[in-house]
Amino acid sequence: MSGGCEKRDKMKRRKTRTVRIGGVRIGGNNPVAIQSMTKVRTSCVGKVAAQLRLLEKEGCEIIRLSVKDAEDALALRRIKRLTKMPVVADIHFDWRLALEAIRSGVDKIRINPGNISDRKNLAQIAAAALSAGVAVRLGINSGSLPAGKGDTVSRMVRGALHYLRILEDEGLSRMVVSLKASSAGETVDAYTRMSSLCDYPLHLGVTATGLPEHGLVKSSVAIGALLLNGIGDTMRVSLTDTPQQEVRAAKLRLEAVGARTFGHEVISCPTCGRCEVDLAGTVRGLGRAISGMPVHRGRHLKIAVMGCVVNGPGEASAADIGIAFGKNEGLLFKSGKPCGKVKYENCLPALLSEIKKMSG
Ligand code: SF4
Repeated sequence: MSGGCEKRDKMKRRKTRTVRIGGVRIGGNNPVAIQSMTKVRTSCVGKVAAQLRLLEKEGCEIIRLSVKDAEDALALRRIKRLTKMPVVADIHFDWRLALEAIRSGVDKIRINPGNISDRKNLAQIAAAALSAGVAVRLGINSGSLPAGKGDTVSRMVRGALHYLRILEDEGLSRMVVSLKASSAGETVDAYTRMSSLCDYPLHLGVTATGLPEHGLVKSSVAIGALLLNGIGDTMRVSLTDTPQQEVRAAKLRLEAVGARTFGHEVISCPTCGRCEVDLAGTVRGLGRAISGMPVHRGRHLKIAVMGCVVNGPGEASAADIGIAFGKNEGLLFKSGKPCGKVKYENCLPALLSEIKKMSG
């Protein structure tokens, strides 16, 4: 698993079986893995390669590609050689593309039983996946549910259980399940119900999230609620935005629930009329300076940047390093204790020097 240490102690995880996807294990005691999808035609291998490079740099751990036709399925052979990330083929409608993708050497296939449901075809996919050692995700989407009785959540869960049984009857056990709805409430209900009914790892996501900022909030609410309840083994934050943005959002979410840590953490006040410096600019500058900064020996620092000395010292006391500003100067703290004053214009270099000393 690349980047990010795990903080499972803070989160009681629901017990799931471990499923290996290429070189990444999900479920069990493994960290919640971050996924994204490429957003260019899969057969345009040059464009895919460029996105893969950006995604790997951003810390993506599993990558999924859509397979619309045989040309895409064949392109996966070359794409597999371009990345260390496990490759997942996203298959809809045509079950034969699943077989072609498996022949191309993918690590996992995602099938949607809303559009591939014939038992004979599922049996062929299961047989090919079994003999190639490929994992299968059963990806239920509220927008492509087979007709049936009951509310959306009941139909999603019932559908997932039905198709899991079919694939289990064909001998498959390396499976992952997702139940994505476009509403946060239905998504939480569906995953929560499913988690009490099977031990397959759950791939979290909300579908059709809308404008990027709406999508961020909606999926943070749903995925955050599930993670805080110990549900979820891997996630893709679906956004109408770049895949890198999806990975960044996933990392922030995992940090927010205390599941994983990817770098130093900045806490800052929202500012108010008491603040006499450009705190927002300072925090942005600090964020840029520490982004990608190596974390030595797993020492992830909490850095507090506070706008005034009224609440600043108190709020900074839980941080490893802090600064509370007055007029044109800041009071530096280390482990909650004051350790000197610094002029506002020198505050960033002073903070960075302390951060380097403490994390080195
Ligand atoms: S720390 Fe000071 S400036 Fe910041 S919000 Fe609190 S009172 Fe306002």
